[in-house]
Amino acid sequence: MVSVSFTVHGIGVSGGIAIGRAQLVSHATLEVAHYAIPASKVRAEVARFETAVDEVQKELEALHGSMSGGDVPGEFGAFLDVHWMILNDATLAEAPKKIIAEQRCNAEWALTQQMAVLVEQFDEIEDPYLRERRSDVVQVVERVLKRLMGRPGALPAPAAEEQTILVAHDLSPADVIQFKSHRYGAFLTDLGGPTSHTAIVARGLNVPAVVATHNARTLIRDGELVIVDGDANVVIVNPDRPVLAEYRLKQSQLELERQKLKRLRTKPADTIDGHHVELFANIELPEDLEQALEAGASGVGLFRSEFLFLNRPGLPSEDEQFEAYRRVAVGLEGKPLVIRTFDLGADKTKEGLGGLVRVAPNPALGLRAVRFCLAEPRLFLTQLRAILRASHYGNVRILIPMIASAGEIDQALALIAQAKESLREQGIPFDPNVPVGGMIEIPAAVLAIGAFLTRLDFLSIGTNDLIQYTLAVDRADEAVSHLYDPLHPAVLKLIGTAIHAAGKARVPIAVCGEMAGELRLTRLLLGMGLTEFSMHPAHILAVKQRVLTTDVASIRPIVDRMRRTDDPVKVVALLDKLNV
Ligand code: PEP
Ligand code: MG
Repeated sequence: MVSVSFTVHGIGVSGGIAIGRAQLVSHATLEVAHYAIPASKVRAEVARFETAVDEVQKELEALHGSMSGGDVPGEFGAFLDVHWMILNDATLAEAPKKIIAEQRCNAEWALTQQMAVLVEQFDEIEDPYLRERRSDVVQVVERVLKRLMGRPGALPAPAAEEQTILVAHDLSPADVIQFKSHRYGAFLTDLGGPTSHTAIVARGLNVPAVVATHNARTLIRDGELVIVDGDANVVIVNPDRPVLAEYRLKQSQLELERQKLKRLRTKPADTIDGHHVELFANIELPEDLEQALEAGASGVGLFRSEFLFLNRPGLPSEDEQFEAYRRVAVGLEGKPLVIRTFDLGADKTKEGLGGLVRVAPNPALGLRAVRFCLAEPRLFLTQLRAILRASHYGNVRILIPMIASAGEIDQALALIAQAKESLREQGIPFDPNVPVGGMIEIPAAVLAIGAFLTRLDFLSIGTNDLIQYTLAVDRADEAVSHLYDPLHPAVLKLIGTAIHAAGKARVPIAVCGEMAGELRLTRLLLGMGLTEFSMHPAHILAVKQRVLTTDVASIRPIVDRMRRTDDPVKVVALLDKLNV
């Protein structure tokens, strides 16, 4: 058969190049048969269903168990917990049994019927975070179906001699976890977006991935040669010789680069002209600390503490939070740990808060982050006490997210004072001088930055939200993602102004949004005067290399011009000049 070369486009959610043979993963729900069950066999069919659910439960537990230690990012555990909860919910574990009995149909059919009902309910939910859980339901159903149809949920082992590119309609985080032990080269999925769990997991594992290809699963055949370029958002199927040779060269250059980068782990990040830069790590859960230390991070610049609250029934107690914070503080051995107080609301919604975080008409502008904390001081005080207690064991700092006004800072500081007082009364030790900082995520915070500089010990620019609020582009909405532009002149002006004002007031300032880890923007930020970056640990060494090869004095005039212009074309041209 003649192999025709073609390309498939999608969203590259994890960079790098992989070359290998396609391995198609079947989409079990598409292959479900429907047949009648005689009344005498209904009990046996229900039992068959129960056995499959039991087996999947064990499968998830085994996956959970296999994750302890090693370099598995912390989000995995939380994802598996969500799947476990869905599997054990009556709507999935019980309802299909009723359908089997009432309709006298096979278990597979009953389960997909019930899945259709649940999916429809999820589709009607406005909150994007909850709506995303729809794919978790489908993934759990697929696992049970595979068991019922005699195929266990484990991914097929890749061929030993060359890399395997997994091609699927959709992959669950629990599937992606197996990339670690099986060393898949990359994955492609028809569905998914840049903020999907699978994307986050792929980035954490450093595996190239292209999602939202729409029909890769239909177009690509098993065994075909595939190139995945996660940086260029493209997949080349059956490449011809010159293309293949070019990509092989590119791939080996990248690998060489990666190996070389490891040597920089302990090297201080100083620019050519002697500016010292600190490169911190962003983490979501205590387990992520290991990866941060391996990358030689200067500390943790952003602990997104709300992840302790998500994907679990009930709230973490003060003691549980304290243990989590203490573990990281101790693990850092004196290096700074910036704990961001929980940023719930918007896309990070906690169902289990007993309805406290309601689904607002416009969640990104609603009762989110510090607003929610001030509206629920009891929850906030519990977290503050836990952080303060942990401060006794390391170099802990408190960071308040999404502040818009001086009043919010004053209220947050008053609650921190109250938390300290209560600990003092109980004789519980804490660091009385724990620094308190604020996130710059709202344009108003930059325009009225004086109120921040006089009240807070340090600042951290959350560019993900700052861009969202400056450009009025919902960062979680795929439909407007083409308008989400870190290089918009207004965004650059705001970032530049904040860094300049903080420098003048001698208040330390960092950038902790995704921009901090984007290599093409490193020099831009250095030229603006930034000396503290906080990013996903996987990006630290590459950014360090860029720092080491930068002469700030010589790029500053170009950056100044970038800050002054309102012309987006000029911005891009100047950025190119910075990166030659
Ligand atoms: C940001 O907004 O840039 C940020 C770092 O916080 P998060 O992405 O968690 O909103
Ligand atoms: Mg933010």
